[in-house]
Amino acid sequence: MSLASKLRDIICVDINKRGVIGELCEATTSKYGVNPLLLVCETLADVIQRHRADVIFISFGFATPPKYVQETDGVTGAIFLARALKRLGVTTALIIDERTDLIRVTEESLRTVGLKPVFTRGCPLSVRSLRNAWVPILTLRTAYPLTRCDLTEIFDNLPPSAIVFVEKAGHNYLGVYHSMKGIDISQYHSHIEEVINVARTYDTITISVGDGGNEVGMGVIEDTIRRVVPYGNTCRCPCGGGIAASSVVDYLITSVISNVGAYAMELLLLKLLGKLNYAHTVGDEILCLKSAVSNGAVDGITGASKVMVDGLPQGAYEELLYRVLDVVT
Ligand SMILES: [Zn+2]
Repeated sequence: MSLASKLRDIICVDINKRGVIGELCEATTSKYGVNPLLLVCETLADVIQRHRADVIFISFGFATPPKYVQETDGVTGAIFLARALKRLGVTTALIIDERTDLIRVTEESLRTVGLKPVFTRGCPLSVRSLRNAWVPILTLRTAYPLTRCDLTEIFDNLPPSAIVFVEKAGHNYLGVYHSMKGIDISQYHSHIEEVINVARTYDTITISVGDGGNEVGMGVIEDTIRRVVPYGNTCRCPCGGGIAASSVVDYLITSVISNVGAYAMELLLLKLLGKLNYAHTVGDEILCLKSAVSNGAVDGITGASKVMVDGLPQGAYEELLYRVLDVVT
């Protein structure tokens, strides 16, 4: 069995018993006809080898009830992917929603892993002005339609060859953002889908890693989500449109926990490029998670302020990460 297949098998096991990941993974694989993890990593490896000094955007952010603050899932997946890409010589910028809790978690997580957050607020920023450890953070207003003009300015400034979403909230076909339990959480999120629309006009490759069906890009398998995910077809908010996200990305990776899918992607990408030594360790991940939690991040399923991800306690989460790491090393 190939390395990519082994990784796919691990990230598609229903370890937190949500009961849907098997079907979501089957749907993505049959959509592309190949393992999407391999497809994404080969595509990114090709982009990185062809333009070493290129730009890749990473976006994450999901506000979780009852406090409507950032969940732990998405944070480490995005931060360590950014760090690995920077080690490869790629200029990496983060795109997040303009929410104080998310900004704080992002800044402190970056610092914890040795990177320096830089806020741009739309001011001119060239690739050359970014030193090794600096990561620009671009924030998007929540609950307002984004203007094409704002985004065009960002893309003109730092034209990205790819954008990777990790556990980023996405709206349904009626434009409403939902929690897994079918609650309307639109006021806490930016209209990130506009970024995908602009990316198309810049020939930017769009990639998303998600686990529940309500993340941006999940429209690739919307029919399956409507059929198998609780509240997928009918939500509990007045819109009635279900939590299934409608936007479509070029490549969608489904994983039982998005952070773990992003880890598999980071490791496979680095392996393909012969730079596995740039990968982060399970210890690095836990350190970053602890920082995220102490700065306000919560578990996405229980809402607890604990070092856990999507309902998995720290020990079980570490075991899962080790399983992914063991396959590659
Ligand atoms: Zn709704």
